[in-house]
Amino acid sequence: MNQVIELVKTNEKKSKPSVGSLGFGKYFTDYMFVMDYTKDKGWHGPKITPYEPLVLEPSSMVFHYGQAIFEGLKAYKTKEGKVLLFRPDKNIRRLNLSCERISIPPLDEDVVLEAIKQLVDLEKDWIPDEEGTSLYIRPFIIATEPYLGVRPSEQYKLMVILSPVGSYYSGQLTPTKIYVEDKYVRAVPGGVGYVKTSGNYAASLKAQEEAEEQGYDQVLWLDAIEKKYIEEVGSMNIFFKVKGEVITPELNGSILGGITRDSVIQLLKHWGIPVREERISVEDVFNAYHNGELEEVFGAGTAAVISPVGELKWKDEHIIVNGNQIGDLSMRLYEAITNIQLGKEEDILNWTVEL
Ligand SMILES: *Cc1c(COP(=O)(O)O)cnc(C)c1O
Repeated sequence: MNQVIELVKTNEKKSKPSVGSLGFGKYFTDYMFVMDYTKDKGWHGPKITPYEPLVLEPSSMVFHYGQAIFEGLKAYKTKEGKVLLFRPDKNIRRLNLSCERISIPPLDEDVVLEAIKQLVDLEKDWIPDEEGTSLYIRPFIIATEPYLGVRPSEQYKLMVILSPVGSYYSGQLTPTKIYVEDKYVRAVPGGVGYVKTSGNYAASLKAQEEAEEQGYDQVLWLDAIEKKYIEEVGSMNIFFKVKGEVITPELNGSILGGITRDSVIQLLKHWGIPVREERISVEDVFNAYHNGELEEVFGAGTAAVISPVGELKWKDEHIIVNGNQIGDLSMRLYEAITNIQLGKEEDILNWTVEL
């Protein structure tokens, strides 16, 4: 556990952007974490170095066969100036799950957690503290071996970069417009949909663009075989409240198991609100709407935490959910999770890790 992480210092510090200009993923802090893998040494040489461009051979395998995985989590500054990470062990566990599926050698999870803690601690002045802001943490791994044969790379680089991010919502939560995608698919059974690998995003961009052209914010993916069952939204899992009960698609191998999703399920159980993970057809959701039983729809993911859905379009029909208003349960979940993340409320489920 007492991992020695070398620190390579820089005197060239960037000026920090104003909170209003932050947006998402535009600015990066002064330092990053790097660790390399080679076949003979394994994962070795953990280092915190200045954030700087990489030098890679054009033949690096990641450019050709796409062995690339990532994670996303956030650090928050509390009113008292403490720094909290939200369930970082879960992200590191999932990083290893992604490693396993993409044939990347697994990491020592304690080393990665220690690396994230040391890096965030070094950069804590970069954590904005206005409502809704945070420091986004992006761990990722790429295959770096210079080789064009098709097999798993024998060299990798793990990096962790940090980006101060603004509030997802300007002002209060705003309902999103969702396009139910019935032409393209994101992930197939037996594929890589359940892990955070870059190719999943490459495969989703065209559908996202076409949905935006039609005035929608994001797409809702259906299963790849029958295009009948609901999977998830772009980078969020999805929940439906029907007649007082909450349902979300079960993790079937093509859906990404979100940490926010898990947090929502645990909180609902804790509150005694019925929640079920099961296969849900898009037809059933539209039928529930027509029967006046569809009360709320919301997405759950690290970026937005909870994102109420105000409109759903499927084929020729579009429905307005809850009068395009934020539902009570969506609001309650958003408040509860963000209050725990910001240390404003007792951390009843033991989710935060203080630096
Ligand atoms: C990251 C991600 C999510 C949300 O996961 P969180 O751990 O809650 O941030 C959902 N779907 C996809 C496809 C993702 O990549």
